[in-house]
Amino acid sequence: MENNSRRNFLKLFATATGVSLIAGPGLVRSAFAQEKKRGAAPAAGAAPAAGGAKELEWPVVVPGKDLALAMAYNHNHAEAGKDAKTDKKTDKGTAWEKRFCNNCSFYKTVGKKKVSIAGKDVEVEVGTCTIFPKALVAAEGICNSWAKKA
Ligand code: SF4
Repeated sequence: MENNSRRNFLKLFATATGVSLIAGPGLVRSAFAQEKKRGAAPAAGAAPAAGGAKELEWPVVVPGKDLALAMAYNHNHAEAGKDAKTDKKTDKGTAWEKRFCNNCSFYKTVGKKKVSIAGKDVEVEVGTCTIFPKALVAAEGICNSWAKKA
């Protein structure tokens, strides 16, 4: 599964940014190394063990900026549905409507945090994502790099 996830991410990164030959493999290697450091993958369909207070201090990924823009990351499906870069068609073995950060192989639950969604600050569950180092994503978020848990 890990190799498939990595391959899918590289393909998506290349499509979105055109720089994967230079930055993609290094970024992914780093992301997977971080994931390994954090421990083994959780059982399919279950959110991984919660992270610590340290991670809760990390900033939340901002949709529409930098890598989030390239990956079409959004805090929920309502926002992702309005994002022209959102890819609902690619077959990942799970319908787009059922894909969330909290059932993605790159996600680990951390806790609750206020997040700005559609101009409103709302407290939502957040977690880490190996695609976005030292940043948090919303549990109900989604991006084009979503990968099914093994
Ligand atoms: S957890 Fe998965 S779906 Fe969410 S931002 Fe990371 S790669 Fe994308």
